[in-house]
Amino acid sequence: MAYVALKRGRERRARARHPWVYAGDIDVVAGDPTPGDIVDVVDYRKRFLGRGFINPVSSITVRILTWDEQEIDEGFFYRRLAAARDYRRAVGAEAPCYRVVFSDGDMLSSLIVDRYEDVCVVQTLALGMDVRKDMIAAALRDLLGITKMYERNDSRARELEGLDQRSGFLGDEFPTAFWVQENGLAFWVDVARGQKTGLFLDQRENHRAVAPWCDGARVLDAFCYTGGFAIHAAAFGAREVVALDSSATALEIARLNAEKNGFGERISFIEGNAFDALRRLEAEGERFDLVIVDPPAFAPGKHAVEAAYRGYKEVNLRAMRILAPAGILVTCSCSYHMRPEVFIAMLADAAADAGREARLVELRTQARDHPILLGVEETHYLKCAIVRVS
Ligand code: SAH
Repeated sequence: MAYVALKRGRERRARARHPWVYAGDIDVVAGDPTPGDIVDVVDYRKRFLGRGFINPVSSITVRILTWDEQEIDEGFFYRRLAAARDYRRAVGAEAPCYRVVFSDGDMLSSLIVDRYEDVCVVQTLALGMDVRKDMIAAALRDLLGITKMYERNDSRARELEGLDQRSGFLGDEFPTAFWVQENGLAFWVDVARGQKTGLFLDQRENHRAVAPWCDGARVLDAFCYTGGFAIHAAAFGAREVVALDSSATALEIARLNAEKNGFGERISFIEGNAFDALRRLEAEGERFDLVIVDPPAFAPGKHAVEAAYRGYKEVNLRAMRILAPAGILVTCSCSYHMRPEVFIAMLADAAADAGREARLVELRTQARDHPILLGVEETHYLKCAIVRVS
């Protein structure tokens, strides 16, 4: 078998069971592997470290799939997918809509599978996974009993692997937009055109976590997308909800969701840039008991952390300013590069500038169907802080 030998001293990450082997760690590639092939990763003394697929085009040149000298064949992937299913069963994360496979969190680097009732949405974001797409789809059909599958490989991440952008059916066609349930509420999902794969499934548990703060409250859901938090807040007894997003398409669906769940009267919508809208609401003297802030990733890479910090601080500062005394701020960041301690520091910074006292009631993360694999920091990306601002 072809192998990749690491430079002396570069085996530390693999020894700590982190699956990414960077181009800069590699001394030699032996055996002339075809891109996407399985290779062994060995240290400078040729001792086995792990086994995974190679893509010389990618700066993550090898993604290790196993730390044992086992064969990586169809059976291997089938067992890994079954393990992902079993994990979700064990931790009570099987919902009508949930993430079936979370890439490195399931030791299936670059594979993402989301399930929306009887539809599966698949992303193969690295070459080694992409060339095995049909085999993986067949295994998923068997394991989940699902026949409707859609590929959302229109992710920019694929460019880093030299892969094209594509989306479409894997197998027979079916309607790609339909109603689903989340926490017993109805949401319209469009797996072909929605952001991500349709819904922000990673927020499912956080949507529920706002329950204690909603009864009789006036709520602002900033960056609402199709109303994930807004609809939940209304269901948990909010007196009035204002939902805000810059995407007209997202708001159109949010409106539909509000009507469908019977909250049409209590939820109103603002289309616009959240930074401007928050400033305007403040100037108009509007006050809220609960403000939810769930922006898109402001820090797509390490280099962008400083600019992202300023963006997060600005939006959280504005949010704190329109909070009524003893109001609750539920604030999120899905940028991996914004580490939890930096996120907390940013909130402290924002509170100081707002001249308010802020107490961290709860620090939450992504739903448990997006497992955080210890030792692989990148799998821990979502922060959701519940802060009481007096
Ligand atoms: N809270 C949502 C997910 C939010 S995703 C849920 O739980 O389902 C982030 C949203 O921010 C997207 O809908 C995107 O359209 C919106 N967005 C991005 N930039 C924005 C901006 N500057 N102002 C307002 N909304 C913005």
